[in-house]
Amino acid sequence: MEVACPVAPADDWVARTADQVRAEGERRHPGEAPTCASGISPSGPVHLGNLRELMVPHLIADEVRRSGAPCRHILSWDDYDRFRRVPAGFPESFAEHIGRPLTAVPDPCDRHQSWAEHFKEPLRDSLARLGVRVTEISQTQMYTSGAYTPQIVTAMRRRAEIGAVLAKYRTRRAADPDDDDPRGAAAYYPFRPYCAACGRDDTTVTGFDDESTEITYVCACGAQHGPIPIAQVAGKLAWKVDWPMRWAYERVTFEPAGVDHSSPGSSFTVGGELVSEIFGGEMPLHFGYSFVGTSGSAGSAKMSSSAGGAPTPADALEIFEPPLIRWLYARRRPEQAITLAFDQEVGRVYDEWDALSRRVAGGEADTVLAAVYARAAGTSQGLLPTTPRPMKFATLASVADITAGDEVQILRILRDLTAENRVATLDEVRPRLDCAQAWVTEYVAPADRTQVLAEPDTARLAALGESERAALKLLTEGMTADWSMEGLTTLLYGIPRLQRGLPISAPPTDEIRALQKAWFIVLYQLLIGKNRGPRLPTLLLALGPDRIRYLLSAP
Ligand SMILES: [Zn+2]
Ligand SMILES: [Zn+2]
Repeated sequence: MEVACPVAPADDWVARTADQVRAEGERRHPGEAPTCASGISPSGPVHLGNLRELMVPHLIADEVRRSGAPCRHILSWDDYDRFRRVPAGFPESFAEHIGRPLTAVPDPCDRHQSWAEHFKEPLRDSLARLGVRVTEISQTQMYTSGAYTPQIVTAMRRRAEIGAVLAKYRTRRAADPDDDDPRGAAAYYPFRPYCAACGRDDTTVTGFDDESTEITYVCACGAQHGPIPIAQVAGKLAWKVDWPMRWAYERVTFEPAGVDHSSPGSSFTVGGELVSEIFGGEMPLHFGYSFVGTSGSAGSAKMSSSAGGAPTPADALEIFEPPLIRWLYARRRPEQAITLAFDQEVGRVYDEWDALSRRVAGGEADTVLAAVYARAAGTSQGLLPTTPRPMKFATLASVADITAGDEVQILRILRDLTAENRVATLDEVRPRLDCAQAWVTEYVAPADRTQVLAEPDTARLAALGESERAALKLLTEGMTADWSMEGLTTLLYGIPRLQRGLPISAPPTDEIRALQKAWFIVLYQLLIGKNRGPRLPTLLLALGPDRIRYLLSAP
């Protein structure tokens, strides 16, 4: 009965799944747009890991739309779930609300309607920037409006069958306090009320009349309620029952889930049985997707903060242009784990993306690669904004670092770096420049930042040998002759050659390489007090001739 969609290697999983979704949607509900579903619980900051829950259905839904057919992508906010725990970084006083619906917990910042809304807003903004269009469905709204009352009554009347299915799949894993599975022979009810007195779900149903649909329940707070028609009682179905109920209600055609949900005995297996037997629907096409991890530089500002190690999509959008984030999800097959790195890897990801962009522009990419690129660069609605002039990320990061973000200096250096076709305004290199700036500030450890010395290091200068002094003289006297990226590069690498009596561009030997290395260390020490740093020509361009002479001149 399970409609699996296995993922074979070396194919275009997005195109293939979209074909299946279109065909399956047409078979189940002819003439209706198929539905791809995502579910997010706004119980705390929504991390990048959760973004796969949205990106996978988005890529499929958008692929269907690209083919000219309509497709619905719903984002079901699980905002009627109970508040389970106070996330790290929030006042312990919120513990008072544990057991209440997320929409009944107060907003931690006093600008939103509730705790749930507080965490929805940043994700909503990120989705808009990523070109992910969804139809939002609030489970609070659905439950409290009575939309699900017929399904709830059905589930309560058929509680014995539901209980038997759940019991059949119950595993021996350690008891999960949030597991709603029936225990032992006690009467099982798949609905849990939110207490009318205290608002929490520390409730136990004590009876349900199948005819009158009246329910009675008690609460840990001491309250006793009922009998009262279930339609008038706040509460929700147990999660393993709620999910298949919604598959049927929303006619979900496709809904992937984290691999942990699709193992044997998981909510998918249970739901697959309940959706057809109880709710008269069909299990969605689905597959499990793997974990999304993140990594960063130890010691950087962001990684040591309280949200450390778990960046949000908004954090990622500060560092990556939106198409790059889409690409990170689109290029990986669902069963492949993804790691989003916030360390030095960021520059490499940009380089790979730029190389792919050039291949596609040059018509050198094969069909699958070109399709992956198109899905990253835009949606069925059009292209996402890009940086008009995509300069190398590492270069922009160095410039942002050396100048500490001074825009006048940044523009001057970028103009020097692009002598053949000078950058006219910083808008040409935005938003990438802003991404580089944010990356340097938040993800580069202070020890790796560049801090130009304010005063000459007189002790170091006094200790220089004869040949080192001569090299500095060659630099300070020759650098303005060709004050450009290329001119400075030639001079810097050529000075050790000139000192050996060789032509400035003589082929490199091991000996020359060793001399260059030692010479560069002297320069780094005198300019920034470290043995390494950004590329020296970039650093020199950033400093300007006067500052260089000041720092390199012996007293
Ligand atoms: Zn708020
Ligand atoms: Zn109560």
